[in-house]
Amino acid sequence: MGDDGLSALLLSDLKTILGELGLLLEPADCARYVSGARYGNGQTLAVLRPDSHQQVVAIVKLCSEHQQALVLQGANTGLVAASTPDASGHYLVLSLERLKKHIVIDVINRSVEVDAGVTLQELNAALEPHGLFFPIDLGANPSIGGMIAANTGGARLIKYGDVRKNLLGLSAVLMHPAGEELMLQAALFKNNTGPDLKQLFIGSSGAHGIITRAVLQVHRIPQQIATALVVPCDQAAVLALLQILEQKCGDFLTAFEGISGAALQSVLKHIPNISNPFAPDAVPDYCVLVELSSSAELISDGSNSGINLEAILDRCLENCFGEVIENAVIGRGKDLWRIRHSISEALRHEGKMIAFDISMPRSSLLAFRAQALQSMAQKYPWVKVMDFGHWADGGMHFNMVWPSNLAQVYSDEVVQEIRTLIYDMVVREFHGSFSAEHGIGPYNIAYYQRYTSQAARQLSGKIQHCLDPHRLLGLTWFGESV
Ligand SMILES: Cc1cc2nc3c(=O)[nH]c(=O)nc-3n(C[C@H](O)[C@H](O)[C@H](O)COP(=O)(O)OP(=O)(O)OC[C@H]3O[C@@H](n4cnc5c(N)ncnc54)[C@H](O)[C@@H]3O)c2cc1C
Repeated sequence: MGDDGLSALLLSDLKTILGELGLLLEPADCARYVSGARYGNGQTLAVLRPDSHQQVVAIVKLCSEHQQALVLQGANTGLVAASTPDASGHYLVLSLERLKKHIVIDVINRSVEVDAGVTLQELNAALEPHGLFFPIDLGANPSIGGMIAANTGGARLIKYGDVRKNLLGLSAVLMHPAGEELMLQAALFKNNTGPDLKQLFIGSSGAHGIITRAVLQVHRIPQQIATALVVPCDQAAVLALLQILEQKCGDFLTAFEGISGAALQSVLKHIPNISNPFAPDAVPDYCVLVELSSSAELISDGSNSGINLEAILDRCLENCFGEVIENAVIGRGKDLWRIRHSISEALRHEGKMIAFDISMPRSSLLAFRAQALQSMAQKYPWVKVMDFGHWADGGMHFNMVWPSNLAQVYSDEVVQEIRTLIYDMVVREFHGSFSAEHGIGPYNIAYYQRYTSQAARQLSGKIQHCLDPHRLLGLTWFGESV
């Protein structure tokens, strides 16, 4: 709790708006809302948990009147410290986790209207009986509002795109004019009736307004999936394999996820009930998780008319043996995805994580990886690079660990040096992005200032000022200076 506490008047009005369940004041109750999934650990005066749009509107009006700053929070799985308050104790957490009454599915339109607090798993459970799903795939269970504010990507982006690509409409409560609900909820795939204002809220880190509802495009659940973990002959072969799969398997290619040997070793060491898929062979230096999928119901019946994705993948990989790949495990999709989705958790057991969520034209990935590995080995040999990534969309989690059992004491200054070294390489030499999927937030704000042009920051600052003139929403300021 902050030293100043809440004014008696504000507290009394919040109690009236939210009732007992909707307002948390005890530090023990607030604890899980003030620490982020990876970064961010602060304190709050209280946690507000509205369960209706009317309550959100009333909170925003009240906080605007009292000039009380808010940090918006969905499921708190964000990775850039944007969903938790700082140490000042001046922020209230506005958690949307109870805003989840409304899920309305339009099966024919393949769309769903959903409250912002609904989680990805809850949404998919509601869609499943209709043969539908929301295809953003990741190893966490975020809220829909948080996914929009972070523009979540995930492992199947090459087939389905990110949240931006699947968002048809939304509603947001504005801080200015205070409490106004901007309704942009059309369930339309085509709508050229002026500037697309919903774009203002996508990837905004909660700085432009409170997303209360979304209209999402949903997809048919795949009827067939074929999965393989493939060992390329060398690094150059990773991109050669990608090109072959795109050429031979076309739109069936759903995921192409690189996993370094160090990351795989870490999963085998720290995550229970996962064994080396290549046993009795050793863990390879690098491998790629490949997935083909199709929602078509033309399941192979042994005749020539059906599609059999496993046979297609099998044949394609067989033709690559020797020059492009040297080993492959086909099938066991659930086990292979469990390995992929366990990497972040496994790495946490190794020591302090230094995470990189970068992207670049995929034609640059090989050269970047070679140069970055060499620089790290020369300058910081005690830091272990344990990278993995979404090669097909140019994304790479060039993650590193500062091992916990080292004589070398962990140093924030050295970590900043490493981050600047890698980001300068990514942005300035390889024309890439220092934040591919996770957004800005306090963790990345200094690099936003470093790499974003003055003109872009000025324009972003004007937009943010227009929507939140007193900076009451969140910790991220996109303007020219902090
Ligand atoms: C194990 C793990 C794996 C992950 N893998 C991926 C991945 O593959 N790809 C990827 O892109 N991300 C990944 N993430 C990051 C994270 O899951 C996404 O950023 C997620 O979409 C955040 O959603 P959330 O509900 O948890 O939002 P929160 O963490 O609560 O908030 C995220 C941001 O959104 C804002 N916000 C939250 N709700 C609202 C709202 N209703 N209106 C306006 N702003 C709001 C917050 O203020 C904050 O700025 C991963 C995280 C974990 C822990």
